[in-house]
Amino acid sequence: MISYQSTRGSAPALPFTDVLLAGLAPDGGLYCPSEIPSLPDVSTATDYVSFAQRIMWPFVEGTIGQDDFDALVADSYTRFRHDEICPVVELGTDEYLLDLTLGPTLAFKDVALQLVGRLLDFELTRRGQRVTVLGATSGDTGSAAIEALANRSAIDVVILHPEGRVSDVQRKQMTTVTASNVHNVAVAGTFDDCQDLVKAAFGDVAIRDRYRLAAVNSINWARVMAQIVYYVWSARTVAPDGSAVSFSVPTGNFGNILAGWYAKSMGLAVDQLIVASNRNDVLTRYFETGALDAEAVVPSFSPSMDIQVSSNFERLLWEASGRDGQAIQDLIATFRSSGHVEVPSAWNERVFGEFVAGRLSDEGTLNEIERVYSASNVLIDPHTAVGVDVGRSVHAGSNSPLITLATAAPAKFPDAVEKAVGFRPELPDHLADLFERPEKFEKAPNDLAAIADLLSKISG
Ligand SMILES: *Cc1c(COP(=O)(O)O)cnc(C)c1O
Repeated sequence: MISYQSTRGSAPALPFTDVLLAGLAPDGGLYCPSEIPSLPDVSTATDYVSFAQRIMWPFVEGTIGQDDFDALVADSYTRFRHDEICPVVELGTDEYLLDLTLGPTLAFKDVALQLVGRLLDFELTRRGQRVTVLGATSGDTGSAAIEALANRSAIDVVILHPEGRVSDVQRKQMTTVTASNVHNVAVAGTFDDCQDLVKAAFGDVAIRDRYRLAAVNSINWARVMAQIVYYVWSARTVAPDGSAVSFSVPTGNFGNILAGWYAKSMGLAVDQLIVASNRNDVLTRYFETGALDAEAVVPSFSPSMDIQVSSNFERLLWEASGRDGQAIQDLIATFRSSGHVEVPSAWNERVFGEFVAGRLSDEGTLNEIERVYSASNVLIDPHTAVGVDVGRSVHAGSNSPLITLATAAPAKFPDAVEKAVGFRPELPDHLADLFERPEKFEKAPNDLAAIADLLSKISG
């Protein structure tokens, strides 16, 4: 059985199901598998679900029965609007898109969260427990969490969004879900205010324990695990003989591309792993300088990548440090307090061999949406455009097939797409009447006491 260790080194190792419920480790670290299994045999797996069942099993084995796990995985992908779940689309010679946008909320987060919601509910029910998942969203994560957790009997979900500061599509995707366990709260404030309220609620032991707060943000190991699957799946689709492929990944919190690194570490043949950033390029600058240097977040056309502290990067640094929890603790403390830290050169040597990186401006993003549409008749969203453009430039001269991960559907970002191609992409059928559906949400001031009051009405 694989156990999980905290990157900060002072929390006890735990089995998979405890890590699933805990999210963050009590020492502030992120849980990582203490042993990276080798890739299971997928030669006889023919569909996405059987790839998923086999690839994830070693990470879970010993904590959930195999029949239960297989059933949860199969159920997780019933709401995707394509037989292949995550189909591979050809863009040009040796150039592909891995379409991760066919889940209920049109973004790649559904691939992991649909499973995580079911795993959480399964484990809580088995333990006879209930939790309240509390989160803040600037748009995408909130709807993916709501769609994953709606109607799960052991879970209430409370999502704070900044009133008037999320797009209409994003708000409607959250507030039109009528399940009684879903609670949307429009906070009079910014996204940072919402995030601070969530942090303050988790930081207040009385509130956290009384309302049994839980989180499903991207530091939850189970999300990384579920994302490993599509790297293997798409590589086998493009190169059935097992030869090496490259991946370009639109990156924010580093959770998605980290799953690609785990796939490679399990034995998948990978040529390049390409980190694609927008103008918020803390990671790309790290690959140029060997230092982490946070700057103010600047809004871009790819808002889900507008991040200056990529939390999952800590997992990679932990591996690069030789799993030295104390050294990670010190490095992160320096970074948090000063916004700058030099990463030891011995770690950099290990990391730099594994990734390449590049960035794209807003203007370049619009040009790339237009170029891909003209050249391949495929409409992509601004996040995916960053991946395709950076992938093409960084990959030039390499002869492995290049797979770019499409992380959101164009209909999620209609304004930017319209600027690029002159028309607005249509919502898929299941959301076509989104703007006619009634909304349900509460309003709250930017105040912890008001949030605590709401929690007491929901789960008190
Ligand atoms: C969340 C998100 C990303 C960034 O993924 P990370 O795992 O945080 O690197 C990229 N594109 C879209 C559309 C997203 O929603």
